[in-house]
Amino acid sequence: MIEVKVLASSSSGNCYLIDDGKTRLLLDAGVKLSKIQQAVGFDVGSISGALITHNHNDHSLCVDELIKRGVNVYGNADVASRNDGINHIPEGRKVGIGTFDVIAKGMEHDIPCSCFYLRSLATGDILLYITDTKSVHYKFHDVTQLIIEANYDHRLLLANAYKPSSLKHRIINSHLSIEQASECVNEMDKSKLKEVYLCHLSDEDSDAEMFRHEIEKVTEAKVYICEKYGGVTCRT
Ligand SMILES: [Zn+2]
Ligand SMILES: [Zn+2]
Repeated sequence: MIEVKVLASSSSGNCYLIDDGKTRLLLDAGVKLSKIQQAVGFDVGSISGALITHNHNDHSLCVDELIKRGVNVYGNADVASRNDGINHIPEGRKVGIGTFDVIAKGMEHDIPCSCFYLRSLATGDILLYITDTKSVHYKFHDVTQLIIEANYDHRLLLANAYKPSSLKHRIINSHLSIEQASECVNEMDKSKLKEVYLCHLSDEDSDAEMFRHEIEKVTEAKVYICEKYGGVTCRT
């Protein structure tokens, strides 16, 4: 299996380190560089690439520093426009990075955002990373490991008296709810699915245990909750 290490997961920062035993990649880099350095034992050169979903700071904070340190950074045209050193991944085209074949697909956020479908030639696993999107319209096959946003619960968000309705509207139009994440898992080909990581949970409008339960209703896969400041929790 592909090893998944959560360095941060919330609207204040998102970064995942994945490793198939041959190739190490970052999925998003919305943390300080020091956090990544610590996670790789200060061997930033061991990171073969950083795939950036979109240009919001909670996903791209240390991109420029990674480039300065020689890490290959990849992203859509909007991400690539921020720094000449970024490799543009055209939507739908397969790109090889070490032992991973990567395909990016466009999502629906308030700025251009991609999801990444990664096949490891080393382990045979397929990891799919979906975040910051209003909905998911693609049908994905053969996924063994899924990292998917479960930003909010619709009922909790609507009942939140501290959020102005304009902000609620923005969230609903740019982020994935637990209801949508569960529907996405339920509708995909789940026959090979072994792990689901719920990510980017809202501080106020989420409920980790309830979210885990919702996903467990639709899959036999092990469900992990990504923690805001790194790490995961799972049912023991
Ligand atoms: Zn975000
Ligand atoms: Zn965003």
